[in-house]
Amino acid sequence: MADLQIPEDFCHNDVEPKGKTSHGDGENFHYIWGEGRTDGAAFSNEDVKAAYAERGEEQVPLGIHGTSVAVDWDSCVAAGSCMSVCPVQTFQWFRTEQDIPAADCMDTTFEGTGLTEMDERLDYTDKSQPIREHDCTVCMACQEICPEGAILIESANQEWHEKAAGTYVLMKSSGENPHAHD
Ligand code: SF4
Repeated sequence: MADLQIPEDFCHNDVEPKGKTSHGDGENFHYIWGEGRTDGAAFSNEDVKAAYAERGEEQVPLGIHGTSVAVDWDSCVAAGSCMSVCPVQTFQWFRTEQDIPAADCMDTTFEGTGLTEMDERLDYTDKSQPIREHDCTVCMACQEICPEGAILIESANQEWHEKAAGTYVLMKSSGENPHAHD
């Protein structure tokens, strides 16, 4: 397994998301974290650099997309390995739904109609977008297979997603829980 690129605490404590990408179902969304980095694998990968050059599009830092299914878009080189192993199609190639610069995914709504097979990327500027983060079964397959260590799966981070969303509810201790057994 490649070295993981996302720090465990990327979304913890006082860190606030930079923005989010919404799902067209009107209910689900995933957050985008951090300012991004230029030392990720995407900035040295020849296929990615050539694809940006061909489009005449500037390659800019993109940050981490998702919270419990976190994808470092600056390390994602559009290999598509995650797509090939995910049993619930958490990921889509965002550019096959909306062919916009990756930075413009911030505060944008996607319907989840993008392509989901390994080799269906529009080109190497495309990224694996965790549009169905909420469907993840935590099988860990994508984290284990990603050749760049760009994915961090941590179901406990759902707490930080909910805190950022203002929907986090602290579970009462068993002594106060009316459903708890004596
Ligand atoms: S952990 Fe498994 S279910 Fe979750 S996104 Fe990765 S491959 Fe899909």
